[in-house]
Amino acid sequence: MKQEQLVDSYGRLIDYLRISLTDLCNFRCVYCAPGKGASPLLPSSEYLTRQEILHFVQIAGRMGIRRIRLTGGEPLLRKDIVDIVCALKTVKSIKDLSLTTNGSRLKPFLKPLKEAGLDRFNISLDSVDALRFKEITLSDAYEEVMDSVSSTLAYGFRVKLNMVVLKGLTQEEIIRFVKMAVEHPLEVRFLEFMPLCGTGWRPDLVIPLKTVRAIVNENFTLSKLPREGNVAESFSISNGQGRVGFIASLTHSFCGECSRIRLSADGMIRPCLFSDRAVSVKTLLRGGAPDDAIANAIREAVGMKPRGNSFQEEPFSGEEKDIDRYQQAPLIRFIGG
Ligand code: SAM
Ligand code: SF4
Repeated sequence: MKQEQLVDSYGRLIDYLRISLTDLCNFRCVYCAPGKGASPLLPSSEYLTRQEILHFVQIAGRMGIRRIRLTGGEPLLRKDIVDIVCALKTVKSIKDLSLTTNGSRLKPFLKPLKEAGLDRFNISLDSVDALRFKEITLSDAYEEVMDSVSSTLAYGFRVKLNMVVLKGLTQEEIIRFVKMAVEHPLEVRFLEFMPLCGTGWRPDLVIPLKTVRAIVNENFTLSKLPREGNVAESFSISNGQGRVGFIASLTHSFCGECSRIRLSADGMIRPCLFSDRAVSVKTLLRGGAPDDAIANAIREAVGMKPRGNSFQEEPFSGEEKDIDRYQQAPLIRFIGG
């Protein structure tokens, strides 16, 4: 039987699915959810069940989805997380299953998630200073997160650390983070602060990643690695065990290489992180709709993918004029689609 491929209206191959398992979170990171929660909390009956997620992935896998990332909210707050991973590992067409976590509750899950077959983790860590960590996350879990990072490596998982660089806050830790990647076999990824959810957006805190790269280049010798479809530009470090990566979402849009769709915790397929367009699939999954109807919902969402967003045409420069421009709503316009 010929394997379907998902290709959007602009010729991009879609093979990557990000699944949000919950909108609950035990942190309140300043750039994500300052004091309010990442988004309004849903009644638990609104979340897709493990069986519904599995059914969706079985169909998406037949349509060309090859890589899955589990995220949230905080995905380890889902009590059935290990069962979800076990279930998704039965879908043989999925070649890479990873999970993004704030790390605070990770340690007890390492053994069961290793046994369940999870391939790798992204752990979010914005500061290696306990006080600053608390200032950013509004959480006291600094020790737990640091312990999780070393335990995850000790379990033999591949680890990427996500660090959002914030002007005047985490900026001064850039060198310390690269040193972690020199000393340990992990990838430190510097992320540009993006205007998500609208709750924590502060354009004055943005540091363009070219500034971060300049700081890193002054202190370390980097060699570029093949991109292999990743949004991050990754580099090996001379005499280092790990790598560094840069994800410049705001100043260098990578819409042209976008290969992803998203499934929200409440069963909406979203074509783009920044778009509020979506196709509901929950009723189909719950109502016993035929697989073709679910496949059509996936095709419809892929067909909605915009060519890009306004960051692509008017990238953020970090200068004063842009801080004003990016302070204004609506922040994002979509191009095409
Ligand atoms: N709670 C988990 C965590 O923090 O790893 C998973 C969900 S969190 C939304 C996924 C990633 O998005 C984290 O690495 C976080 O740092 C990043 N993130 C959240 N809001 C962001 C923003 N406004 N700009 C850039 N990255 C952001
Ligand atoms: Fe929670 Fe992750 Fe958002 Fe921080 S970035 S508030 S840990 S969902």
